[in-house]
Amino acid sequence: MTIDLTPWLADVPAAAADAIAAARNALVACHENPDADTLGAALGVAAIVERHGGSATLISTDPVPPLYAFLEGMDRFISDPDDAADYDLLVVCDCGTLDRLGGVLERHRPLFERLPRVLVDHHASNTEGGPRDWVDPVAAATCELVTLLAAKLGVPLDAGDGAMAAALMAGIVMDTSTFAHPNSTPRTLAVAAALVGAGAPLSDISRRLYRSKPDAQLRLFGRVLDRLEVSDDGLVIHSSLSDADLAATGTLSAHSEGLIDLLAQSETAEVAVLFKEAGPDATRVSVRTKPGGVDATVLTGAFGGGGHARAAGATIAAPLAEARRRFLVEADRLAGSVQRPTQA
Ligand code: 5GP
Ligand code: MN
Repeated sequence: MTIDLTPWLADVPAAAADAIAAARNALVACHENPDADTLGAALGVAAIVERHGGSATLISTDPVPPLYAFLEGMDRFISDPDDAADYDLLVVCDCGTLDRLGGVLERHRPLFERLPRVLVDHHASNTEGGPRDWVDPVAAATCELVTLLAAKLGVPLDAGDGAMAAALMAGIVMDTSTFAHPNSTPRTLAVAAALVGAGAPLSDISRRLYRSKPDAQLRLFGRVLDRLEVSDDGLVIHSSLSDADLAATGTLSAHSEGLIDLLAQSETAEVAVLFKEAGPDATRVSVRTKPGGVDATVLTGAFGGGGHARAAGATIAAPLAEARRRFLVEADRLAGSVQRPTQA
């Protein structure tokens, strides 16, 4: 079934669409610690380029988490581009800043800086702003934007026997928690309807991304949830995950995906925080906040991070205990300043 996306195609900037359609040899890159949105968007861009007769090289500085292996094309991602290749366009997907590309940017900075660039993103904290960039913080997912790019450029959404639709749907399911977050708009749902119409298995994708886990991961969740702490006023809930937890349960860092969303289910907390050990002197922080409350980009921005108003992250250059202490001061302060109507 074909769903008509015409009402939304005027949102697509011509400069971004034209550059992607004209690419002969595109380099398409994801953010570090990739998730379904950045990966799906990159696969979607690659499909558009290929449909227009070009070729695409897909880059992810970190390995694709096993969770996403069920999606066709995930085996195409490589960690490093070829500095000697004749790429003619760089497309950066789901990155609020170029730094989000991670280690690959440091390893090939001259290449990344030389290439004409299209950045497709939906982060409110995006600080880039090139002539061909498309940054729309109202989009629930970068995959929502890439679907509109495909439609605008006449690429059938069922390209690759539905593989493109599935990859794009996965990004939308990931970033909306299957349409449960407050970021889904009528456009998000129209785009999703078009992808389901093109063959994306919505229910299967949602189950795999959100409701199916190895037992070892459930054990990891148990450990981390068991040690959750709540601030005296109940407004900040937090927990921590160390390398020892991964070792004890036989899990990988990627298996922490989803934990922060459980902490965020607290009825009382305005701010949910998960601290993750990332080496001896670095800590990854994930934040979720309640609608109408603390802006998560402001909280994480104070530590050099960013993301969206309700979901953001940062990496702090300090061991876990110190990072936690510093971060909680700011989280407590912002959570305490939220004004809510008192309930009768
Ligand atoms: P998560 O907590 O799921 O890792 O990330 C939540 C959101 O914040 C995602 O949209 C992600 O792109 C963004 N985010 C996570 N970590 C960082 C970071 O270190 N810097 C920036 N700018 N955004 C981040
Ligand atoms: Mn995203």
